[in-house]
Amino acid sequence: MGLGKDFRLPLDARPVRYAAHLAPVLEAGTFEGRLELEVGLTRPRRELILHALELNVERARVRVGGKTVRAARIEPDAESETVTLHFDEEVPAGSAVVDLAWRGKFSPGLRGLYRAGPVAVTQFEAADARRVFPCFDEPAFKARWNIQLLQISQGAAAISNGRIVRDEPGEDGRRTVVFSETPPLSSYLVALCVGDLSASDPATVRGVPIRTWAVPPKRHLTGFAQECAAAVLPLLEDYFGQPYAYGKLDQIGVPDFEAGAMENAGAVTFREVALLLDPKTAPLNVQKRVAEVITHELAHQWFGNLVTMVWWDDLWLNEAFATWMAYKIVDVWKPRWRVWADFEVGKGAALHLDALKSSHPIRAEVKNAQEAGESFDAITYEKGGAILRMIESYLGEERFRDGIRLYMRRYREANATADDLWGALDEASGQPILELANGWIRRVGYPLVSVAEQGGRIVLRQRRFFSDPEAKEEGPPTRWLVPIVLRYRDRGGVREQRELLRGEERAVSLEAQGEPGWVLANAGARGFYRVAYEAPLLRRLIEALPELESEERMNLVSDQWALVRAGALEVDGFLRLLEGVARRETDHSVLEEVVSRLSWIEYRGVSDADRPALQSWIRRLFAPAGGELGWDARESEDDERRLRRAAVLRALALVARDPQAVEEAQERFRRLVAPQPQPLDPNLLDVLVAAAARTADRPRFVELRRRAEAELDPAAKRRFLHALAMVEHPELVPDAVQLSLSEVVRMQDFPSYMGTLLGNRATREPAWALVQQRWPDVRRKADSPMLLRRLVEALGALPERRHLKEVEAFLAAHPIEGARQAIAQTLERLRMDVALRERLVAQVGAFLRG
Ligand SMILES: [Zn+2]
Repeated sequence: MGLGKDFRLPLDARPVRYAAHLAPVLEAGTFEGRLELEVGLTRPRRELILHALELNVERARVRVGGKTVRAARIEPDAESETVTLHFDEEVPAGSAVVDLAWRGKFSPGLRGLYRAGPVAVTQFEAADARRVFPCFDEPAFKARWNIQLLQISQGAAAISNGRIVRDEPGEDGRRTVVFSETPPLSSYLVALCVGDLSASDPATVRGVPIRTWAVPPKRHLTGFAQECAAAVLPLLEDYFGQPYAYGKLDQIGVPDFEAGAMENAGAVTFREVALLLDPKTAPLNVQKRVAEVITHELAHQWFGNLVTMVWWDDLWLNEAFATWMAYKIVDVWKPRWRVWADFEVGKGAALHLDALKSSHPIRAEVKNAQEAGESFDAITYEKGGAILRMIESYLGEERFRDGIRLYMRRYREANATADDLWGALDEASGQPILELANGWIRRVGYPLVSVAEQGGRIVLRQRRFFSDPEAKEEGPPTRWLVPIVLRYRDRGGVREQRELLRGEERAVSLEAQGEPGWVLANAGARGFYRVAYEAPLLRRLIEALPELESEERMNLVSDQWALVRAGALEVDGFLRLLEGVARRETDHSVLEEVVSRLSWIEYRGVSDADRPALQSWIRRLFAPAGGELGWDARESEDDERRLRRAAVLRALALVARDPQAVEEAQERFRRLVAPQPQPLDPNLLDVLVAAAARTADRPRFVELRRRAEAELDPAAKRRFLHALAMVEHPELVPDAVQLSLSEVVRMQDFPSYMGTLLGNRATREPAWALVQQRWPDVRRKADSPMLLRRLVEALGALPERRHLKEVEAFLAAHPIEGARQAIAQTLERLRMDVALRERLVAQVGAFLRG
């Protein structure tokens, strides 16, 4: 009889200290381990249960009070991923030391202990430490870890959470590396890394040595990560009011990695593209992304590592907090970057996902670690981050920070729940944060706030927003406690007014001098809701666009598009809005928002017959800005103008397919790949390479592939790799599709490469056929639940009703464990996108002919 998949360890045995020896053999892909584990037992017993998965535990005994008791039977259970030690005699309550020896194999996917190029590295979150160590593999069991790596070859780097205290040669010339004891850590935060890596020179900040590691040919790409970590670490210490707890910081670029990065205490692992870059050639968006990821992982050193959730149902809090904090801190470090505009893009994705019937609350019941993994999506990260931002905005920065500091002081080195955090914020602010936060965290979806003017007052109403025009709430309508910040213009200037919308409706008197010129109902775009204005209010807002902040203008475009999707607005009104914005707008973030909407409509919302007319219309919108900006930046130009040029040229060369722009892009691509390359503005590289890929012939395809394999800079490598999936020449299509399963595309890049193929009109049919016909190979190529979820999401790029039917049938016939939620969301999104496409095709055609 097994313990079952949802088994959780009993609380009557707790780990105190692990002393673990691990001898990994990289060539063979195997390891041997030994462990002395100090435990506290609250009752006498004849059995002890630990997590262990695919480990061959060969010996187990327990020492207690000077006596050794052997485990007569060692019983593994694959379903609960445990091993039960059955003792001959009763082991008394109190302190005991469990002594274990085992053998295991490297894991095939990107988790447990696995090979990534010349390194062996671990990835333990959520519950894969048990693939390497028998342990108490749940976040509530924090313990100190003493780790030794044995049999390490000469010249190999060895990294773990602690600093190296001894590194000595053993017999046969192999080394033993001993790491210092860690503060109390949950098992998912333990890390090991061995292999051919070299480090940057250390930077020491407030006594903390920081190093960034890469495979040796990429060592020159570590400088930016060093600079960033050194700048943000003190900012985080100051914010939390607690020093960094882990003594040293290693940041490791791993050649094949499942997620973006992992916050292992003191030994953070990254996808190379999220860590390593050349600042001379990296576009600004790549630099911002790397800074954001580094800061996110560093924020976890406090939020998650120092104070840890009790159970996976509060995993969202770790991620929401780190997401929000990263933007907040990077904004302090580089105010010029205006990263809150980038936050809007992620928030837009969360609003979109959360408008589905198949969405989920931020905090939901989690029965096992696999379910915890399922909720790693935009709801957990971006919606969670946006809710924290909304609460911070409502409380004010200082009161919010005081509450966080109280929470850190109270629970450091321990575990806490979300309610402990809300309690601390309640206490520090005297505001009903528990009620407000739980309303947003525990309920699915968010409100549409509609705004009307009636008898000189502003009437606010809320109801749950769905993307699907047919969807309705079942049961009593959900009401949120919505903190609304209104902004309006009157004779005295621009003012703000805070309101809390509690029930369905509320009429508000503005404290305005005279009739307000315009009224905005989501100041600074800080609220997590959509707004629908009645027509006269919307007209006045559009006239006043230049007076709004750029995030507010992005938000307005994004809300109006959501209303089109929901069937609450005709698309020609939306196209007129885009027309007005595109002509006048100078902020690159707002332009990017507009271009993204147009790109969606160009791909899915117009018939083949009408597409050329749409492209001409888009060309007319952007041609004046394109003419004014030109293709080449002057040396003295600021970032804003460079980024605006990138947005406008993306619209002209990639969405409108303006022949002249495509020719200019190819001309610059030739300069980029010439034997003596000429410097180009890095911000234009994505556009140039994409335009060149679409028009590629065989020799250019060969060149793109050579670059995809040879480039050292990860962002450049990724750009050339994805370019291979953008080709349109019929002769190249089979090659681009076949390449997906070859060595050229690493496991970590497979879902995004496949997503690019599925979003390309020329390659999508053969790519979709490959997924269906070679499913066993495809599964092996995305050998982890997270990568499979990303692959399922990539199927959402298929545009037509027949695709929807095929995807439904295929996913029904090929169930994927651990992707239940991703499948439901993808199918619902596809159903809506297909219906929207059918609605839009006629309306967009009429608009273009009108
Ligand atoms: Zn995170």
